[in-house]
Amino acid sequence: MSGKDNIPFLDLVTPHVELEEELTGILKGALHTAGFIGGPMVEQFENAFAKFCDAKYCVGAGSGTDALRFALMAGGVRPGDVVITVPHTFIATTEAISQAGAEPRFVDIDERTYNIDPSKVRQYLESQCTLDSRLDVVVDNKSGKPVTAIVPVHLYGQMADMDSLLEIAEQYNLILIEDACQAHGAQYFSKKENSWRTAGSIGRAAAFSFYPGKNLGACGEAGAITTNDEEIARKTRMLRDHGQSKKYYHDMEGYNGRLDSIQAGFLAVKLRHLSRWNEMRQAAAARYRELFSEMNGEKVRLPYEPDGSRCVYHLFVVRVEDRDEAIKHLASAGVGTGIHYPIPLHLQKAYANLRYKKGDFPIAEMVASEALSLPLYPHLRRDQQSRVVSELHNFVSIEGRSLAASKSA
Ligand SMILES: *Cc1c(COP(=O)(O)O)cnc(C)c1O
Repeated sequence: MSGKDNIPFLDLVTPHVELEEELTGILKGALHTAGFIGGPMVEQFENAFAKFCDAKYCVGAGSGTDALRFALMAGGVRPGDVVITVPHTFIATTEAISQAGAEPRFVDIDERTYNIDPSKVRQYLESQCTLDSRLDVVVDNKSGKPVTAIVPVHLYGQMADMDSLLEIAEQYNLILIEDACQAHGAQYFSKKENSWRTAGSIGRAAAFSFYPGKNLGACGEAGAITTNDEEIARKTRMLRDHGQSKKYYHDMEGYNGRLDSIQAGFLAVKLRHLSRWNEMRQAAAARYRELFSEMNGEKVRLPYEPDGSRCVYHLFVVRVEDRDEAIKHLASAGVGTGIHYPIPLHLQKAYANLRYKKGDFPIAEMVASEALSLPLYPHLRRDQQSRVVSELHNFVSIEGRSLAASKSA
């Protein structure tokens, strides 16, 4: 490795060392008051995060998975329903759907944005469902179950095509819940409203994760629901706290799914830096684009950011053929990478019961085989990125040579 430092895929240490004093202050405050559950730190963070997302309400939760489950349940998803989502996401998206008692129904993603493809949603609803006009609900022909909700995932920090999805949701009476777990601060220009909208402010409700590696991460597990709907805010507050409307008055059964005070305090400190960190991620993404363009890297497909999208680059995902070999090459050069995600959900063992097969979602399958996440975090330096790009360039150039050689042989 010629004495060069390794470039890690993720650097969670630097931002925490920078904020060490403030964070330990939060911890000490909690120890001195023994305020661990509920209380002012949770409310302060909820208010600040609602404002950040341009949403009326924020309700803290124990994790992003809990947040998504509570949002679905409070939004009106019932056991036995079908919920539309994508196979190209982290399994928590579909776990939350199943935990709400519903069944996930996959549709394929867009080849350029890797987000849900609204035309595929329409195709599914038009060709594989029937409208029950008496109940004003579409029914999935195969299972006979009502299709009641749709969960677009704002993957890698980029928002899904919300105008089209909202139109479909309205037409088919679907509850739209955003999985915004990778998209804190991402924005989308709504042509319909002629204005920029922030992730977490558009759907009936949205779920955020504050898992440590997310753009806004806790120092442990945490999540939140955002919504503009007072009733959903009230219901999610009850769901996260054993169904209590007030202490020991349980209007329903709920869960133990609260955001704890220490994590809320940590998050409030880090939230003050989130806009700057997101800008640093965007600057790093722009540097990657510049470095790749100098390298004439047509064999490396860069992320696509459509007009009307402000991506917050939770991940910088490129596509290459021979992805697994590329990872080995980069690892031997000291460059850490990730795969998000190697096996689409419809081909996971956990969903064998849904009876999908290889070939059902060709774009998701192709992206799963080619996606390569490069290092990207606020403190990533240009010289590090330059090395990442030249190592990847070296790899694709070698590949080209060997392919040409085998063809001429
Ligand atoms: C991280 C993540 C989740 C789950 O969040 P947890 O806090 O880990 O429960 C859900 N959906 C997506 C797309 C995620 O990336």
